[in-house]
Amino acid sequence: MQTSILQKIKYLVRPLHIGASLVLLSLCSLFLTDLLGFRDDGRASVSESRKMLAESTAMQLSTLASIEDEGAIDYVVATLVTRSTDIQAVSLVLANGVEQAQYGEESLVQRLASISTLSRISVPIFKDREVWGELRLVFAPVGSLMKSMLGVLFFVGSSLLGYTLLLNKAFIQLDPNRAVPSRVDTAFNLFAAGVIILDDQLRVIMANQAACDMGSCERDFLLGTSLADWPWQANSDWEEPWAATLNSGITISDQPVRLVQSADVTRLIMVSCAPVGDETQGARGVMVTLDDVSSIERKNNELGATLKELRASQVVISAKNKELERLATTDALTGISNRRVLMESLVREFERAKADQTQLACIMTDIDHFKNVNDTYGHGVGDDVIRAVAETLSAACSEQQVVGRYGGEEFVLILPGLDAEQAAELGEQVRAAIVLLAASSQLAVTTLSSSFGVADMSSGALDANSLVDLADQALYVAKQGGRNRVCIYDETQSAANADATPHVIEPVLIDSPEGRLEQLDTLLKLRDWEIQTLHEYDDLMGTPMRTLFLHTLQAELVRATHATEHVGVLSFELRNIDQLVLRFGYIATDRLLVSVVDRLQQGLRKTDLITNISAEHNLSRITSNEFGILLSEIKEVSEVMVIVSRLKLLILQPFVLADEKVDVGVNIGISLSLQGAGTASDLLLQANEARIRASAKADNVSHAFSIAEYDDKPLDYNALDADLHAPSQVDTDHRVPDEVNSRLNR
Ligand code: GH3
Ligand code: MG
Ligand code: MG
Repeated sequence: MQTSILQKIKYLVRPLHIGASLVLLSLCSLFLTDLLGFRDDGRASVSESRKMLAESTAMQLSTLASIEDEGAIDYVVATLVTRSTDIQAVSLVLANGVEQAQYGEESLVQRLASISTLSRISVPIFKDREVWGELRLVFAPVGSLMKSMLGVLFFVGSSLLGYTLLLNKAFIQLDPNRAVPSRVDTAFNLFAAGVIILDDQLRVIMANQAACDMGSCERDFLLGTSLADWPWQANSDWEEPWAATLNSGITISDQPVRLVQSADVTRLIMVSCAPVGDETQGARGVMVTLDDVSSIERKNNELGATLKELRASQVVISAKNKELERLATTDALTGISNRRVLMESLVREFERAKADQTQLACIMTDIDHFKNVNDTYGHGVGDDVIRAVAETLSAACSEQQVVGRYGGEEFVLILPGLDAEQAAELGEQVRAAIVLLAASSQLAVTTLSSSFGVADMSSGALDANSLVDLADQALYVAKQGGRNRVCIYDETQSAANADATPHVIEPVLIDSPEGRLEQLDTLLKLRDWEIQTLHEYDDLMGTPMRTLFLHTLQAELVRATHATEHVGVLSFELRNIDQLVLRFGYIATDRLLVSVVDRLQQGLRKTDLITNISAEHNLSRITSNEFGILLSEIKEVSEVMVIVSRLKLLILQPFVLADEKVDVGVNIGISLSLQGAGTASDLLLQANEARIRASAKADNVSHAFSIAEYDDKPLDYNALDADLHAPSQVDTDHRVPDEVNSRLNR
């Protein structure tokens, strides 16, 4: 009951609202009519009749004044008030300002002035063409303010009521919502989807709450509007589905359209349209359902993104799994199978060979004197060697064969289908290839070899582990036999029979023509390398050339890094060699060069108490007139100073050429690498630069250091040399006496 009253009041709000507007509009037009004077309210005629009364009275009084009948004048004035109800007060004022007579309400008369309005009129009275006096009349007011106000209020009230009732009735006709029972309306509002009914002009005639929410609009304001005015985000050629349904009578289902909600938010609405009407009259409207699927779309997008992330992480996980598998199955240093995988493969292959009664060979190999590699060149170079050997082994094996790291510098090869002889043949090839590794510039080592032990199924192994053990025993025999060789397991020489005299097994010779060919090929490679190495030696001097010098220097630099020692290069050249050639000819000059180098080699070898320069590779011919001396194991700079002094002493003694004593001039440049820093070619280059600076000096035998501050050290070479050769001060530990060092460092 209460609800229906409230409902009714609610329905009245809109007509009342519009009614008030209409009342205001009417008032405005009324005032405008008045303003323009189109409406006659009777005031003008009242004013006219009052003026006429005043004028006629004034004429009558003028006549009476001319005859000076004062009694009649007084009588006329008095009767004005008594006979006319319209006149409230009257006053007769003479020209001299004296009031002759006054009647009516005194207060009104007192306020009389010589002015004329609608309620107050003053007219002059003439006597003999001169103003005799003035008649002032006060009339009753024409209409009161109160009355006017009441009139307006009545107008406003009555017309407002009239309009509201009229509009309310009209709205009942126009708004079907009002005709819908409230229960139906409530049920209609329960739909989650927006439901809108359009008339045949496609105007909204009904809408539920969800539709209003979607359109961000009050229901009352939505009615009568067009759905096309909503901010749809569609192409310019988009045909509104409700229009299509109205025109064609076809039902449209779930057409996706975007509705702009704010500058950067749109909602995805599935629009369905069904025609409303009957068969006879055709479509008289359209029922539109708006299904907001934005949240589903958002969830879909989120799901899509999550799926994408999942896929990406799946890729990462499988990559990681692969990496993990790789890490779990391969050896980190070499990338070949680790011991676990190796042994698993061996067990598998052993069982298969046993079951199939086929051959299976196993090789165990170990790098010879590997401790020396580590000790001489450091563990970094040791690792390089292990890697290079692993690569060589892998390269020699086919896909069916397995190579794995068994331990530190020990490897195992599993060779299905091969017997011991065939495996030894393969081992022999690998052995030769490993020897060649040392010759390549890839490794800092100068020599390298491995020993190999071979065992196969016929050696009596009962399981995979014992097969490896037998190969290991053969390896032991190979080591005993002098290393760098391949040995096949022979139970008479096994570790079990360690007491037996070790039998040195020579590298296996392969009888087959192919095997012979491969062996010859390996030998050929070895010869090539030897020839290449020979080419690195200078024909004239028999000293190594630049490449070999740099190679040795690089190895020394690596070693110095581990040993925290310094390496130096001493570069020297003969002064004025062109003049020597001019004077003695090429052949004699060559001979002079040979004797210079001979003397230096002899002389420097004798300097055995200092820096290690005794190895034959240490004096090299870099170019035709440029020699390099490699100085290694330097602990103090003073040691180099001593070498320089020694060198200078050796040069200063004249040479004999064509029975003539010749003084030879020499420029010496010295560069130092502190703890092996820098590359071999850098060091050689720095020595060359220092030598060029030395050539600018006046002394016939001059020197310069790459570190210029050492140049300034005053050197007394003779005294130093004497110190060096004084027996009491020669240290068998090859150390520079303290006294010498302190003198150098002064
Ligand atoms: P032999 O000819 O008898 O085999 O002499 P060897 O010096 O090779 O002797 P041994 O096999 O006992 O020495 C192996 C050395 O290898 C000892 C160890 O320090 C070194 N080593 C083991 N694993 C690694 C590694 O991963 N890197 C390096 N640089 N050295 C390793
Ligand atoms: Mg070993
Ligand atoms: Mg070893």
